[in-house]
Amino acid sequence: MKPNYNSITFLGTGTSQGIPIIGCTDPVCLSNNPKDKRLRCSALINYNGLDILLDCGTDFRTQMLRENKANVDAVLLTHEHTDHVGGLDDLRPINFIKKQDIPIYGLNRTLDDIKIRYSYAFSKNKYPGAPGFQLFPVKDVFNIKNIKITPIHVLHGKLPILGYKIGNLSYITDASFIDEKEMDKIFNSEILVLNSLRLEEHHSHFNLDQALQVIDKVKPKKSYLTHISYQLGFHEEIEKNLPSNVFLAYDGLELNF
Ligand SMILES: [Zn+2]
Repeated sequence: MKPNYNSITFLGTGTSQGIPIIGCTDPVCLSNNPKDKRLRCSALINYNGLDILLDCGTDFRTQMLRENKANVDAVLLTHEHTDHVGGLDDLRPINFIKKQDIPIYGLNRTLDDIKIRYSYAFSKNKYPGAPGFQLFPVKDVFNIKNIKITPIHVLHGKLPILGYKIGNLSYITDASFIDEKEMDKIFNSEILVLNSLRLEEHHSHFNLDQALQVIDKVKPKKSYLTHISYQLGFHEEIEKNLPSNVFLAYDGLELNF
């Protein structure tokens, strides 16, 4: 039966190396709290019955198995860094189940990168069993079936990248700057997912203060922070001090909207 609500499942909420980092002895990396363990940043949205994957990082396979999920109807890519695209080969089981290529949406530059990284998926004489992708460049508002998707153009350091708005949910990761026009697009979201790396400033990611400033401006009903480094601190301690409508996302968190 089709559920009568839409949902987002946080597959991963960590920064590029994940938490714990191999070899790291910081207390956050050594924490036993499951909420302090963060795989690479990604989310699976179920909207009007379609399963839309936001980024497909290196941990994709582990995340899908952990959440007992087995379907992806489309992938929306924010940008081409490995922590966001390194798991695309693991879409193969879904190719095999659906007997279809998987549609992938992103900036032209991002899709060009995918063609290089996964050249074997685009070669003329494809190896049987290679992944099947269909690439769709994104500029302005587009539709997947009857679902309207609004791209949000933000900066990741100097790199232009995308966030996405689906229904009343806005999802932005890896941003360090959002201009007024793009902020207007996400104003009054029911849920805003936004990156917050750590307490200290960083050249290409919002820190906590900067993320809270954006939230204050665009006034979502609720906001969930993601793409978190161990340097932000322990989940429980940081969350205690956040404004009442702001939460830290954690791996496996599912919300309805
Ligand atoms: Zn990233």
